[in-house]
Amino acid sequence: MAAVLQIQDSRGFFVLPQQPEDAGYYTYGTPGGGQGQYTHPKLMSFLFNVANQWSAIDNRLIGVGNISLANGVKFSPHHGHLSGLEVDIRLMRKDGKKEAVTRFDSQYDREGTKKLVQLLWSTGQIKRVRFNDLSIPRVVFTPGHDNHLHIDI
Ligand SMILES: [Zn+2]
Repeated sequence: MAAVLQIQDSRGFFVLPQQPEDAGYYTYGTPGGGQGQYTHPKLMSFLFNVANQWSAIDNRLIGVGNISLANGVKFSPHHGHLSGLEVDIRLMRKDGKKEAVTRFDSQYDREGTKKLVQLLWSTGQIKRVRFNDLSIPRVVFTPGHDNHLHIDI
């Protein structure tokens, strides 16, 4: 039986809107249905802002993944993702499909991903980007981060 999705968790956090129209992003992640996307209000407005700015410069959507589980309980296999202030974002693909891609794949769009990382930093709100393509400025190499960016705000 599927778990019932709480509207608002014990921290007062809401789930990131799952199928927004014209918002510049799409959602993915496990568990599905937004169960892993309970979002601190600061991160919520950050993501809306970034996706909105992105849609003005690029037709592809940003893939937004795991954030936190309801009530901030341990989110295996992650070490973090407890605060609602951390989010995984997919690398840009050349074909724009709503699918994962690793930095070793021919569909990986390095220039597009670089543009996205620059936009993230331009907000002045982020603390760190974990990602393993060090040809992109201002990313920190962290094992397990070949197919997504991990953002802390
Ligand atoms: Zn992460």
